[in-house]
Amino acid sequence: MKVVVVGAGYAGTLAANRIAKKVKSANITVINPRPDFVERVRLHQQVAGTAVATTPLASMLRESITVRVGSVDKIGDGIVALGDGTDIGFDYAFLAVGSGVEPIPGAVPMGTWEGAEHARVALAALEPGSTVTVIGGGATGIETAAEVAEARPDLRVRIVGTRVAGGFSHRAFERVRGGLQRLQVDILDDGVTDVADGIVHLRSGAELASNLVLWAIVSGVPGLAARSGLTTDAEGRAHVDAYLRSADDERIFVVGDCAAVPGARFACALAAPQAAHAADCLARLSAGRKPVPYRLRYVARAVTLGRKDAVGQFTRPDDTLRRAYVAGRTAALLKELASRGGKFGAQRSAGA
Ligand SMILES: Cc1cc2nc3c(=O)[nH]c(=O)nc-3n(C[C@H](O)[C@H](O)[C@H](O)COP(=O)(O)OP(=O)(O)OC[C@H]3O[C@@H](n4cnc5c(N)ncnc54)[C@H](O)[C@@H]3O)c2cc1C
Repeated sequence: MKVVVVGAGYAGTLAANRIAKKVKSANITVINPRPDFVERVRLHQQVAGTAVATTPLASMLRESITVRVGSVDKIGDGIVALGDGTDIGFDYAFLAVGSGVEPIPGAVPMGTWEGAEHARVALAALEPGSTVTVIGGGATGIETAAEVAEARPDLRVRIVGTRVAGGFSHRAFERVRGGLQRLQVDILDDGVTDVADGIVHLRSGAELASNLVLWAIVSGVPGLAARSGLTTDAEGRAHVDAYLRSADDERIFVVGDCAAVPGARFACALAAPQAAHAADCLARLSAGRKPVPYRLRYVARAVTLGRKDAVGQFTRPDDTLRRAYVAGRTAALLKELASRGGKFGAQRSAGA
């Protein structure tokens, strides 16, 4: 059985390893633009110089899996077409191309390895007293602003978002903002209209001079599904059935950020269980058994505030917020363990 996995992030890597383990007849090819696995949850650390976010795919994937470095232009009719003009046939495919970032001109994108590298180099070149503006009041923005402020206390760091930390309940919200303030991060609840000549223009009319502007809003997914004629939602995520197969083609499983699973947000915490579930569905199908429907379940949402502080807010399975939260060093340790678990779960030595 020929299986092609498109994208080697958390979902694709885990899916490939799990299929290799569970479906002995599978001949698996993984296609990814880089020869590395990028730990996206550490890209803010890469920017601040507190971690390296890449690991060679060769050390992440089981030896039986073939890695092809390239980008897929189209998928369908049992074929993936690569940008270099070659086609690879499949019996089953896994679409796991993740999500993207669409920065406004003048801002450096967070959320991709290339953007993070650009930001790391630019940050390292900043003189003491320079100003960094992080755009985006969600988890990526908060983690980026905090990490940069902790690593470079000689800089002035500010975060701008329509409601910074708005995804947390009242007490956790206050705690996240308190953690940012402790790191001397200025918080501006405002929208950004544009960035020009080093000036960030806000909806309120304010103008902020900035030596480096980071765009820390993850949005949209690569256009592959839409380009291939698969049915997609407004963000470009491919519609799936109860077993995480494309609504248009039962041979294509769609997992991770690029899957339009009702109620799902962009999260490594969802990408991994989806990939595991879809791989198990394929294993069941290949054994002549019926697949089991996928059930979305949330546990918590969390942000790091530098290396020694974090806030973790517990959620109900449907992602609505519980009152309970943990903060401080304990939360930072739990978040670090979760980040390590995300990578460990995907790699070849794990149960995957
Ligand atoms: C700074 C930061 C912090 C984060 N923190 C958290 C967190 O604490 N908890 C959490 O749950 N989530 C977090 N996230 C979100 C999390 O990183 C993503 O939800 C997760 O990476 C999604 O996994 P994925 O496998 O679907 O996609 P990705 O990890 O994005 O992997 C997709 C892969 O597909 C490849 N690809 C794309 N297009 C093509 C193509 N055409 N052909 C071939 N390959 C292609 C990409 O290069 C990439 O390797 C964070 C994100 C960022 C940026």
